[in-house]
Amino acid sequence: MSEAPSPSALDIAPLMAPVNRLAGVGAARAARLAHLLGRESAADTRIFDLLCHAPHAVVDRRIGIPIDDVPDGAAATLTLQIVRHEKRVQKRGPIRAIGTDGASELALTYFRGGSDWLQGAAPIGGFVRATGTVERYKGRAQMVHPEALESVEGPDGAAPETAIEPVYKLTDGLTRGVLRGLIDAALETLKPIGDWHDGALAAREGFLPLHEAFAALHHPTARDDPAATRRLAFDELLASQLALAIVRDRDRTARGIARTWDEAAVDALSAEIPFALTGSQRLAIAEVSADLQSEHRMLRLLQGDVGAGKTIVAAYGAQMVAASGAQTAVMAPTDIVARQHFETLTKLLTPLGRRVDLLTGRITEPAREETLAALGDGRVDVVVGTHALFQNTVSFANLGLVVVDEQHRFGVQQRMALSAKGPQSDLLVMTATPIPRTLVLSQFGDMDVSRLTEKPPGRTEIETRAVPLGQLGAVVDRLEMALERGDKAYWICPLVEENETLDIAAATERHAALAKRFGGAVGLLHGRTPTAERERIMGAFRDGTITVLVATTVVEVGVDVPDATIIVIEHAERFGLSQLHQLRGRVGRGERASRCLLLYKAPLGPIATERLATMRATNDGFRIAEDDLKLRGEGELLGTRQSGSATFRFANLAEDSALLAIAADDARRVVATDRDLKSPRGKALRNLLTLYERRRAIERLRSG
Ligand code: ADP
Ligand code: MG
Repeated sequence: MSEAPSPSALDIAPLMAPVNRLAGVGAARAARLAHLLGRESAADTRIFDLLCHAPHAVVDRRIGIPIDDVPDGAAATLTLQIVRHEKRVQKRGPIRAIGTDGASELALTYFRGGSDWLQGAAPIGGFVRATGTVERYKGRAQMVHPEALESVEGPDGAAPETAIEPVYKLTDGLTRGVLRGLIDAALETLKPIGDWHDGALAAREGFLPLHEAFAALHHPTARDDPAATRRLAFDELLASQLALAIVRDRDRTARGIARTWDEAAVDALSAEIPFALTGSQRLAIAEVSADLQSEHRMLRLLQGDVGAGKTIVAAYGAQMVAASGAQTAVMAPTDIVARQHFETLTKLLTPLGRRVDLLTGRITEPAREETLAALGDGRVDVVVGTHALFQNTVSFANLGLVVVDEQHRFGVQQRMALSAKGPQSDLLVMTATPIPRTLVLSQFGDMDVSRLTEKPPGRTEIETRAVPLGQLGAVVDRLEMALERGDKAYWICPLVEENETLDIAAATERHAALAKRFGGAVGLLHGRTPTAERERIMGAFRDGTITVLVATTVVEVGVDVPDATIIVIEHAERFGLSQLHQLRGRVGRGERASRCLLLYKAPLGPIATERLATMRATNDGFRIAEDDLKLRGEGELLGTRQSGSATFRFANLAEDSALLAIAADDARRVVATDRDLKSPRGKALRNLLTLYERRRAIERLRSG
């Protein structure tokens, strides 16, 4: 008896082969596949990519399944005996043939045709096989204009070829039949290959072998078959976690600088701060300090709800780095926030003899030229800026620390571009969206995390209410009373997707309406307000000349006016949960009780209803972020849609967080025990990285 050779995990050639290797795929078809599968070119479209094109639904063509087993909105093929017809009652109303499966009834509904036609197509007493989407309307199942309707002999008609058929996203010139044929051909080229999984782990999790997982994905035997996608989701998560672990391992051991400074410099800063630090601020500062002193590069995420006081932590980092003789760059997402950080840091650090400069797109010559020169020769200790900071013209004498505020607004690329200006620089990422653990893992790998869990003392809970837009008049009346008592309010105007002009028009209109009532005490701020005007308005709002600030979402991030106590958010149903929470965080920063009014347009859809309920129920940013992840998915929460980094094809972070944790542990273990992926499993894992195109990790492995 000869033993079958065990399949090799190194044989990924059939998966890496371009799709034009398949019979029937010429240049034109390969180009269509590239388009369908989102690949750059035909040559770059692999058989693996075709196999990863998962069906987005299945059509259940099993015969004789009970009507009640078909979920609402699902397509099915049902065998029915027609029991009666329902005539058209109104001129444009439907006619119906009512059929039964013995237990329940279903209406075949037509808005065309007459009684004679219906009697021909679905005669009373006869059996029909109807294919179409089943919906429930007023408690009864119906199929409106079935895709197919044929007469059959009786309830046990012949079974169709495939009982459950996958449904794929298609593209021009590629029909369903052709695509299925190609996928089947691709499945045929696939031989069993050995696995890159840890054997014990795969057995415990019941993962299918890869070729079986692909077969199950494309030939489902049930409506819902998680077994196939679970293994593929794990592969995807493992590839991403392993790549992050490798890059991070290389980053850490890339020599950082063990910084030293005179503790007196830190004490001097403490003396400048007019309040006592919270316990979690002190802890975060100690962690940053330890990182800066270690010879590893710092990769630290500082999470803290809005108003938790992250800026102070950054100020300590900057002061330590300055005292060690190096520079700090602080990157903010918007001009307003950059300016605010600039003011805070100037106030704290210039009395200690530091030079703090501002560099944004709005800073013009010759100030800009001077700042660039002073950064280049080391006269500037701290520079605060926006995207302008990572332009080529900016170079540092000795960049030691990069602080990135509100990370989710920047792409990873941009962060790297800035880090590259100081190859040994430490990195502190500050985020006010309290990213759940799951997302930290998937996006940053296991970065070190400091969390500001306490709020500075004297903060009050914010009372949140949802009010329909119909009650706008009453809201304005109450606002008037509050203003008379000396309150200050933000009035945030609706977000119109991808159309700044419309946002501004809406805000301008609201400003005019409120100004009619409250006169000059109403200010307006939006994305196109010129800098000087912005500064004047923010200043006036701070000192109380303006008491109602109408704004678009430009005030979302970072703006700090501690005695503002009311925020009205118009069309709250158009905002995401995290965004609402960020906006709400503009108030509740002082001693006085604060309120948030969510004005919504009724009726609310289910997601918006849930969002507003969450907002009313909690002020806890972490809980809100978790809910947001469930409601919106990871792409939007992290803003990766804009920054273009791909989200997962099989994995879903909201549902697969347990799987992600397993992948993260596994990846960490691999890097700890087999850092260069040299063991047999390590070599197989290199193939996983290749399939999932983790190029950066692969390069880092090569360069050692
Ligand atoms: P965020 O975490 O949202 O960036 P900031 O750093 O802007 O928060 O701080 C919000 C406000 O709280 C600022 O006015 C800051 O001066 C103040 N603050 C920070 N830490 C404390 C503290 N420990 N005690 C009192 N006020 C504080
Ligand atoms: Mg901030």
